[in-house]
Amino acid sequence: MTETLHALPASVRGVFDTVQSRNPHEPEFQQAVHEVLDSIAPVLDSHPQFVEAGIVERLVEPERQIMFRVPWVDDAGSLQVNRGYRVQFSSVLGPYKGGLRFHPSVNLSIIKFLGFEQIFKNALTGQGIGGGKGGSDFDPHGKSDAEVMRFCQSFMNELYRHLGEHTDVPAGDIGVGGREIGYLFGQYRKITNRHESGMFTGKGVQWGGAEVRTEATGYGAVFFAQDMLAVHGESFDGKRVAVSGSGNVAIYAIEKSYQLGATPVTASDSSGYVHDENGIDLALLRRIKEVERGRISAYVAERPNATFVEGATPWEVPVDIALPSATQNELDEHDAYRLIAGGVRAVAEGANMPSTPGAVAMFQEAGVLFGPGKAANAGGVATSALEMSQNAARQRWSFDDSEARLRTIMQNVHDSAFAAAEKYGRPGDYVLGANAAGFERVAHAMLAQGII
Ligand code: GLU
Repeated sequence: MTETLHALPASVRGVFDTVQSRNPHEPEFQQAVHEVLDSIAPVLDSHPQFVEAGIVERLVEPERQIMFRVPWVDDAGSLQVNRGYRVQFSSVLGPYKGGLRFHPSVNLSIIKFLGFEQIFKNALTGQGIGGGKGGSDFDPHGKSDAEVMRFCQSFMNELYRHLGEHTDVPAGDIGVGGREIGYLFGQYRKITNRHESGMFTGKGVQWGGAEVRTEATGYGAVFFAQDMLAVHGESFDGKRVAVSGSGNVAIYAIEKSYQLGATPVTASDSSGYVHDENGIDLALLRRIKEVERGRISAYVAERPNATFVEGATPWEVPVDIALPSATQNELDEHDAYRLIAGGVRAVAEGANMPSTPGAVAMFQEAGVLFGPGKAANAGGVATSALEMSQNAARQRWSFDDSEARLRTIMQNVHDSAFAAAEKYGRPGDYVLGANAAGFERVAHAMLAQGII
């Protein structure tokens, strides 16, 4: 991201200056903090008690940051060393909660931006979960199952001491799916001699996992877009949808878009995107990505009417609804310009912070309905909280029951963000609304629990 961040309101500028000077090489973390501070300036104006108690000064500093060595041996017998992270940002509303990301781009800045956003996202869900994030610069792509297993075991050999159902509960994120969660959970069980279901979410449904957890983030992003459209009497029916990514979030965003009568026409990975005007063949996409773990270009070999555009993002395809579901800063001002020119009506972020600040501003100025990730993708972590509830009660809820709960939670997330935007004089600004509503909940809890 090359955009410069705009000047903040005077009331929060000092905190931001401190964040910049304390974390000088962390642009993603600074970007995430900047967005929240910009939104909550009016909340601070009307709550002097938050200012007096130094709520913001405390929140921008993680409660605890763990960085560790992860040594493992590859199939050729060579020693590899990766770096592991867990940033435990805030436990004021519940145990630290947030995923693990395994991707070569992972560094402290990425984990801190994700952990910081997670605080407010998790608060918005209304469930009792704090905020944290972790991961490693390990790249699971191209690794054998045995290599992934050895890496996960080594990673857990350090991380286990910081986890627990009442302490810190990880889950998946980019590069961490069912396979990795199985290996990580297995090693935790082995080291601790405890089958402690509630210390990890996203588990297999046969061994403590929750129905709908796999689908939840993608479904939730579609539900959020559905709710934004419904305010204006509009729906998904008959609409064309652009989705980026081809992981868990994208796949289930595509599935739910179909179920609501829309036609998703794109999917992507880091090599480029496919455009299928007849609608993405979901079974084919899943086979390529989940079974073969291949590149998305393989899609056009079996769908001759589809096109693969190398090295580009799907935002040049004119659509009604865009669901960025790949990664941070994947949609910039140029992309926003093309989407707006193509007539986009709603953008809901399935990924975390996929739109750059300039792109967000352009959508808002153009009157495009914009749902930021920390609201629109909250369905994943919300369903993780449902998994924790089921584990604690030793229950299993049905798929339909779980989806109905997710639907209600997403409606509440939407309504809270919508109401907060109105309350602070920016109707329809879901960025401000999500940040303000999440922050208020966290700030009141911090105030009640004292200076700690
Ligand atoms: N990684 C997901 C997120 O960004 C899910 C976290 C979780 O379920 O704990 O919210």
